[in-house]
Amino acid sequence: MRRWIMHVDMDAFYASVEQLDHPEYRGHPVIVGGLSARGVVATASYEARTFGVHSAMPLSRAKQLCPHGIYVWPRFDRYKELSNTIHKVMEEFTPIIEPLSLDEAFLDVTGITHKYAGPVALGKAIKRRVLEETGLIISAGLGPNKFLAKLASDLDKPDGLVVIPYGKEMDMIANLPIKRIWGVGPRTEQRLKEGGFHKMKDIQALATEHDLIPYVGNQARRIWELARGIDERPVEVDRQVQSVGNEETYEVDLLDPAIIDVELRYFANRVAKRLRKQGLKGHTVSIKVRYNDFKTVSKQKRLAAATDQETIIYETAVLLWNKIHGGYKPSDSKSMRPMNTESLQQGRTQPIMMDNMEVMGAMPEKHFDTSILALPHKPLRLLGVTVSGLSEDGLVQDNLFTSGHDESSEKLSSVLDELESKFGRTAIMSGALWQRENGFGGERRHRSTLKAHLDEDKDPLEANSALHNSALHEE
Ligand SMILES: [Mg+2]
Repeated sequence: MRRWIMHVDMDAFYASVEQLDHPEYRGHPVIVGGLSARGVVATASYEARTFGVHSAMPLSRAKQLCPHGIYVWPRFDRYKELSNTIHKVMEEFTPIIEPLSLDEAFLDVTGITHKYAGPVALGKAIKRRVLEETGLIISAGLGPNKFLAKLASDLDKPDGLVVIPYGKEMDMIANLPIKRIWGVGPRTEQRLKEGGFHKMKDIQALATEHDLIPYVGNQARRIWELARGIDERPVEVDRQVQSVGNEETYEVDLLDPAIIDVELRYFANRVAKRLRKQGLKGHTVSIKVRYNDFKTVSKQKRLAAATDQETIIYETAVLLWNKIHGGYKPSDSKSMRPMNTESLQQGRTQPIMMDNMEVMGAMPEKHFDTSILALPHKPLRLLGVTVSGLSEDGLVQDNLFTSGHDESSEKLSSVLDELESKFGRTAIMSGALWQRENGFGGERRHRSTLKAHLDEDKDPLEANSALHNSALHEE
């Protein structure tokens, strides 16, 4: 049976929803974005695009180009709601759906094309159902595979419906630029152009991938195949990860709150990093404790806003720990100090200002003193921290916003993630984690695991604090 894949893509999704919900906006340029001084356009309506406004553009620039536009703050809950409705409509057609973001999905419609007069009729039917249910217009593309379906949906936007039929794959994409090939970013594009490859047809002319190897190395085969319209990737039904957690069973039972504190920091660090790596955020933080008599206790807390941030996960874990062990004590706000790198260097547990949580209302308890970690009832064998209630952070647009309050910590996290992937984990660990890996009481074992240049003349923790400051102050 011939495979048929459909790609559906809402047209100017956020802006279209605003025009749907506010009839007075219809026919006018609507720009959805973060409205602060450094905000960015998330979506521009087609009316706004005629003025040259496009997504990811600084809002200040958009206002120069389109001063009379209607500028609105995004309403993600509403977009999510409509996205769910659209998903339900798609389920009327096939259960094989791979969502890519709030407004895009692949559908494997192989088994249902026979119910319609052909792929065009099927595309029309889905477009009509989405319009009936939501009032929104989508573009759809159909083809023998994912790559072609996605190209097709983009060929006639907005309100597009393009089918790339079997046998026409190479012809229909021959004149598209090579940057449209999945995975070809600016650098690969540049190298291909140096080889004289500008359009799909330039690559299609090659009998094998061989001549691409000098320019793109081991990507040659994939690029050559895609340019010829070959793509075997299946539509992957969303198998949602339910939770992200780390736990450890200890060789020697733990009893010392200072060590337990370091362990909680370590788990929060690992879990936050894994969440960010997968583009996920979670609403619920839980901890699991198993004592030396094998009694196991878990406790969880739902946050008002989903997070992928280490500090929030750590602070919540401490709160839960203290709830289990009866040591919870709201602190006197005078004792609160902002987290400083000096305290990290000393490896001490310091009270931390809960800036993010306070703003987001995640924690009704305004501040709590993390320097008081309650004694465990009994020695522990196992400790773990898990974040669940996951949602995909999938909206690229969301990340572009200047949200003011938690931007600096998110920026720091992403800078740290990047450095960590470059230099290895030990190079940038915060003080407590450094301590975990190198011994308590300032004793530094396994120093050789650090990068040599950090060893030379700089204390690695100083390097860490310098990084901390520059990341926070980066424009
Ligand atoms: Mg779209």
